[in-house]
Order: sequence, then C-alpha cells, then structure tokens
Amino acid sequence: MNEQAPEAALSNLLAEDRTFPPSAEFAAAANLTADAYERAEADPEAWWAEQARRLSWSTPFTQVLDFSDAPHATWFADGKLNVAYNCADRHVEAGNGDKVAIHWEGEPGDARTITYSQLKDEVSKTANALLSLGLNAGDRVAIYLPMIPEAVFSMLACARLGLAHSVIFGGFSAEALRTRIADASARLVITSDGQYRRGSAVPLKAAVDDAVATEGSPVEHVLVVNRTGLDVAWTEKDIWWHDLVDEQSTEHVPEGFPAEQPLFILYTSGTTGKPKGILHTSGGYLTQVAFTHHAVFDLKPETDVFWCTADIGWVTGHSYNVYGPLANGATEVIYEGTPNTPDEGRHWEIIDKYGVTIYYTAPTLIRTFMKWGAEIPARYKLDSLRVLGSVGESINPEAWMWYRTHIGHDRCPIVDTWWQTETGAMMISPLPGVTATKPGSAMRALPGIAAQIVNDEGVPVGHGEGGYLVIAKPWPAMLRTIWGDDERYRDTYWSRFASHGYYFAGDGAKYDSDGALWLLGRVDDVMNVSGHRISTTEVESALVAHPSVAEAAVVGANDALTGQGIVAFVILRGDATARVADGGPAAGETLVAELRKHVATQIGPIARPRQIMIVPELPKTRSGKIMRRLLRDVAENRDLGDVTTLQDSAVMGLITSGLSTGK
Ligand code: ATP
Ligand code: MG
Repeated sequence: MNEQAPEAALSNLLAEDRTFPPSAEFAAAANLTADAYERAEADPEAWWAEQARRLSWSTPFTQVLDFSDAPHATWFADGKLNVAYNCADRHVEAGNGDKVAIHWEGEPGDARTITYSQLKDEVSKTANALLSLGLNAGDRVAIYLPMIPEAVFSMLACARLGLAHSVIFGGFSAEALRTRIADASARLVITSDGQYRRGSAVPLKAAVDDAVATEGSPVEHVLVVNRTGLDVAWTEKDIWWHDLVDEQSTEHVPEGFPAEQPLFILYTSGTTGKPKGILHTSGGYLTQVAFTHHAVFDLKPETDVFWCTADIGWVTGHSYNVYGPLANGATEVIYEGTPNTPDEGRHWEIIDKYGVTIYYTAPTLIRTFMKWGAEIPARYKLDSLRVLGSVGESINPEAWMWYRTHIGHDRCPIVDTWWQTETGAMMISPLPGVTATKPGSAMRALPGIAAQIVNDEGVPVGHGEGGYLVIAKPWPAMLRTIWGDDERYRDTYWSRFASHGYYFAGDGAKYDSDGALWLLGRVDDVMNVSGHRISTTEVESALVAHPSVAEAAVVGANDALTGQGIVAFVILRGDATARVADGGPAAGETLVAELRKHVATQIGPIARPRQIMIVPELPKTRSGKIMRRLLRDVAENRDLGDVTTLQDSAVMGLITSGLSTGK
C-alpha cells in the first residue's frame, strides 16, 4: 500500500470520448441482450443457478450460494458433476463426436486435429493411466508441459478423477517447480522431454529431475511425454507417456464429484510479490467460465473458431483454453509456440489457416505487434475474425485503436476483460452485442457480478473519482482459499474492507463521467506526487499515445520535494529506435524532452515524468505483465525483490546497464 496520504482520491486525469457501438447486425444476433443486467441484478442467485444449468449435473443441486462461513463461500454444494464429462463426453453423446474440439498447431509446423470423440478417448486413456499409478480423488498432480495436446488431456484426466492439478509454467526454473510441488504435495509430475521455443528444442524434464531429486520430495512418479526427442536422463520414477497411456483402454466411466471438489491450484503471476497458490473448485468455476465464454465472446459453437493465445500455465489458459471452450463444445485453436517463429506474421497466418473468428490475447502482445509494424498483419486476410478480446493488463487506448484498425479492420467489437487468477473467470467486460465500447475501458461488471469502486472507508465513489475496486458479493468462480495458507487468504482479500464484507481486488479503478469503468493499475503502484494520487496506467497510456512509443512502464520513486516523482521506462517503436540510434545522445535527449512535454499536454503538468529512460526491454512476468515493483527497485537504487516469475532474467541486467551508461 502506498504510505503517503492514502486518503487522497485517485486523480482522474485522462479523458476518452471515442465510442464504438456494436453494429445493428451484430447486436441483432447476439447471445445476450441488455435485459441480462436487470435480470441478474434482480436475483443474482437465480441468475447463477440458471447459468449452472448449462452444465450436466449427475446430481442436480438444490442449494445455490452459502456464504454463512464468510469469507468462505460454497456454490451449488449439494450438486455433483464430472468436469471432464462436461468438457468431452456430453458433446459426443449429443451427436457432436466428429466435431473438431482442438486444432493444435505445433511451433515447428506440425499439426493435429482432435475431435470431441478423440478428446473423450484420450482423456479416458490418460485417466486410466493415472488410476494405474494409484492416484486417488483429492490427490494433487503437478503438470509442467508445453502447449501440447497432452497438457489438455492431463488437466481433464485429473478433473475426471477428482484429482487437483497444479499447472506450472514451462518456463519456470527447477526451484520454482520444487517449491510449487512441495506446497501442493504433488504425488505425480507430468512433463515432457523438451519443448520448442523460438525455433529450437530446449530441455524441460531436466528441471523436473532436479526438483524431484530433493530429499523428501512427495513425487512418486514422473510421466514423460516425448515431444522433441531430446536426450534425457532417466530415473526409476520416470515412465514414458507412450508406454503407459497408449496401452490404456478408452473406456472410463466418469464419477460425479461434489461441486466443491478441488479442481486446481494455480499460482498468481507474481507481479506484485510472492505468488499465491489459488484454489478453485468445480461446479461454480465451470459455471462461470462456460457462461462468460458464451456471453463475452458471443460464442456460436456451430460456426465459431476460437483462439485464446494464453499459455496453459496461467489462469487465462485454464479458463479459456481448456474449461470454458470445451464445456461449451466449441472448436478452438491451440498454438504451441512464440508469435515470431518462424516470422512475425505467425499469428495472422494461423488465423487465416483455421478461419479463426474470435481471437483473445494480451495487451503486451498487441503492443509488440505495434512495435513490429502494421505492415505485417496487412499481408494477411484476417476476414474470418468477428470478435477480439484483451486480458492481463489495461489496454492503452492507442493499442486498443491499433487492434481495432489493423486486426479487426474496424469491424470487430473488442472486449477488454478484467479478471484475476483469484476470480477464476471474467468479471468486468463489455458485452459485444450490447455495449458501446470506449478504447481502453473494461466498461461494466458482467451480469451477476457486484463490482464497486469505493474510497478508503468503503463508500462508493462518484463518477470521475478514483478508488479501490471491490466485489461486494460472492461469485461462483471465486477462489476458495490460498492453498495451505487460509490466513493469507483472509488478510490479502478480506481484511481491507472487513466491515463491509467486500473482496479487495488490489486494483485501482474509476468511473468516467459516462459511468464507464476504467482500471488504473495496482493500488500498490499508485503514485503520490505533491498530494495528487496518479495512476500508472494513465501516464503509461499517454506515453503509448505518442507515435514514437511502443511500450511504457511508469513507477513512483521517492522524491525529496514531491513525495514521489514519476519515473517512466519506455520502449520505442521500430522507426523511432532507428532515429535515436542514428542521431546519438542528442536525439535521445530531444525525444525524452518531447515525451515529457507530451504527457504534460495530454494529462496535465502534474503528470509530467521527472525522468524518462529509453530501454530495450521491460521486466515482465511469464504471463506478460510488467513488473513495476522491479522498476521501482531500480528507480530507488534498491536490490531487486522476488524475481522468480520474471520471464527473462537477463532483462534487469539490460535495463540497469543501459541506465548506468546514461542511456
Ligand atoms: P500477483 O497477484 O502474484 O501479484 P498478478 O496479480 O499479476 O500476480 P494475475 O491473477 O495473473 O496475477 O493477474 C490479475 C491482475 O491483472 C489484475 O489484478 C489486474 O491488475 C490485471 N488485469 C487483468 N486483466 C486486466 C484488464 N483487462 N485491465 C486491467 N488490468 C487487468
Ligand atoms: Mg494479483
């Protein structure tokens, strides 16, 4: 929390008045209409019970929400269901067995098409394999795999057996793996020999060997997929996937588990500190991911081809690569690799190849595409697209406009979806057939979600004021606790507004004068300049609106005069980088002066950065979020905090060495 003057309201600086209503044609065919909001508000529990009936329950529920043991909620607690049955078997039983579930595209160009009946068979075989290893409902399984079909089979096999999975990013170190395995006491690890990254095969299993070799490791078996053919060391715990799973029967009768059966543990990105092991359960989670995938993407399962670019190692990959689309019987694309392999047009090539209609990605990637240049997507048709989505960070208005123009060809609604690992599913987002969107705004809480923006006392703020984003009522996909640390659960989310019983999201937000909701960045990152509380997001968006800037990260650094001074780190767009490189230090200084002035004119003199540094990269989490806390450490000359979830550990060196040479 920011120590200085927390009572001051967050200043509302940027104004945006462009709006984009859905076309009449889109609105007329949309899955949800405006009355959804009123219906949900009139009786939220009835609303969610109605959504829960999208699923097949082996024992129908009679209870909906129970919050008597607050802050612990249960949803649909007396109902039973099998999550994997909902994601595979029931579509086969409904006659859609030959429908494509997954168009999988490997990085080297290999591909695999998996129908719903094949999915059911593969999941059943994997479940039988896990049973043969002696696993029992309630046990935990660690999954450390690249984006290959076996990752989906493994997750759904766990779900089928009532095992909780803990998926760990394929990019994390042996140490990160070891602590997560120990935290969850995983009895099995599922991994692969290696993975393809940027055109080459790199080892993966080696990190598991290292993590599992520890004295007292809970891991009994390691199941290994042969993905790359790299040489691997072999221990007596290891079993090849093709030796064990390929042998199994495709017959497996799914058992119904209680709605509150743990489904997975997933660690947060670690943007603000040490990652938290978030626990999600079955019925409420699946209800909300299926509903939001249907409503926010306006999914038409017969004709749409959905693509979420997230890695399965983060929550977006869980909810919108696996559980949401498959529960809805959708056809989706899963791509294994990086967006610039073999070249920077890879995503657009995949969209044209599979006729992708709904594309869901992160602002970090959109800004990267901007940096690479609009001429790249211009080489592709992209005419199958009809809805675009964004998640992970605020999308700067200029990035939103670029996305709309160059990818959506001014035709596709953009849904900017706010949610968290903790919320399990989307919470705040436009509805593409209902909402007139504004570039950069997540607009409005979804039907059934009680989001509010409040001041320090928990009192709702007015339009134009900033405050804390809270959720005033439980929602089905909410986290149930932090695994093994219920006290941290209460402290982190429920103590800040305990007397109101609000969930504290940790993000700042505001309503603009029209009542549209804007996310303003982490509450911990809010800057205090001469008594004005200024949002990092707003200053970053002003910088990204300058034609020379591709990405910006802004932090408040201690300042003897003003309390905090605004320090900005910027990455330039391709052409500006060349100009600065050719023009020497003077060109850099001129540009920095111009950018400082640009921010002052865009949002006011109070927001003029004290310092702007041009850097080649920014520190990001593996899920693509900027880690401002590390930049604050740099700006205040401190040792770096927890860097275990940093995507590229060399980045901080690049930044600090650039700074010390005065660049
Ligand atoms: P940690 O909690 O460990 O610091 P994290 O918060 O980055 O990590 P996630 O759960 O992956 O972990 O990210 C959720 C956060 O991402 C939100 O709290 C919010 O700050 C940000 N976020 C996600 N979507 C949006 C969005 N559409 N607009 C603005 N911010 C977003
Ligand atoms: Mg968080």
